[in-house]
Amino acid sequence: MSVAPVKKVCVIGAGTMGAGIAAQVANGGVPVLLLDIVRDENDRNSVAEGAVKRMLKADPAPFMSNRAAKLVETGNIEDHLDKVAECDWVIEAIVEKLSLKQSLYEKLEKVRTPGTAVTSNTSTIPLENLVEGRSDAFKSDFFITHFFNPPRYMRLLELVTGPATDMDLAARIRDFADRVLGKTVVDAKDTPGFIANRIGTLWIQAAINAAMDLGLTVEEADAIAGRPMGVPKTGVFGLVDLVGVDLMPYLQESLTSTLPKDDPYQAIARDIPLINKMIAEGYTGRKGKGGFYRLN
Ligand code: NAD
Repeated sequence: MSVAPVKKVCVIGAGTMGAGIAAQVANGGVPVLLLDIVRDENDRNSVAEGAVKRMLKADPAPFMSNRAAKLVETGNIEDHLDKVAECDWVIEAIVEKLSLKQSLYEKLEKVRTPGTAVTSNTSTIPLENLVEGRSDAFKSDFFITHFFNPPRYMRLLELVTGPATDMDLAARIRDFADRVLGKTVVDAKDTPGFIANRIGTLWIQAAINAAMDLGLTVEEADAIAGRPMGVPKTGVFGLVDLVGVDLMPYLQESLTSTLPKDDPYQAIARDIPLINKMIAEGYTGRKGKGGFYRLN
């Protein structure tokens, strides 16, 4: 089957994931429009521009080459959302909050070209909730493409379609993700947390609870719940730093509100005061002042 090529991609949300996804698309030689919110009135594109700079100086190897960086156009959703009409694939990678995602889709519906794919990078929010209130045309072009962190190194991509999704369009994106981005695309059902986060969040929460209850240091807990348990060198707390400490409450809220009441996760999900304190003080992990571990 010949599939229409994806010529331009838009990534909305230039944080940990959006910046990494945009870098990977550009590394694949495909132009990207990277949009975020306006945080500084005097420098309206500063968030997306800052993301490009971060990708160029990522350690130990840059996430994006200088050549690829020339393919990234930066902007903000207030001034440049209409440029989405030029893109064949719009990837939403904004914060894990349903109401914010829904309000962005409402705006996107007005500016995108019908027939182009709109996908969410949500970790936990069911597709049926994301598209609530949207038109049939939007629902047909919408699905979930869940990348893993960091997109540069993680090959897995979960693809979640809904009952209304145009499967030819999903096949087009699957082909692009496979051929250009080098992903291993796995179909997942529209269940809370899909596959990896349904398992991963349960396991992270259990490890954090145990460490808190037993009064273990982060290093002690990771010595057990890291390499010996088959987790790459980050360990559990290092993984939370990588994912973003600030993402944790959103994941928890989203899962507890969507999983059945008798799901094992419901029994162990609990507020961790230390995490709330860290977020309030800017210790959001590698993207902030550091997290459970300091930045080098
Ligand atoms: P992040 O906090 O690092 O970045 C989110 C970005 O979205 C920020 O730059 C913020 O300014 C921007 N933003 C917020 N509201 C916006 C809006 N209305 N319009 C445009 N931009 C807006 O978050 P992240 O960790 O990159 O997560 C993004 C998405 O990817 C979430 O849905 C998350 O669940 C998912 N995800 C995260 C990881 C991870 O490891 N961090 C892994 C897989 C999936």
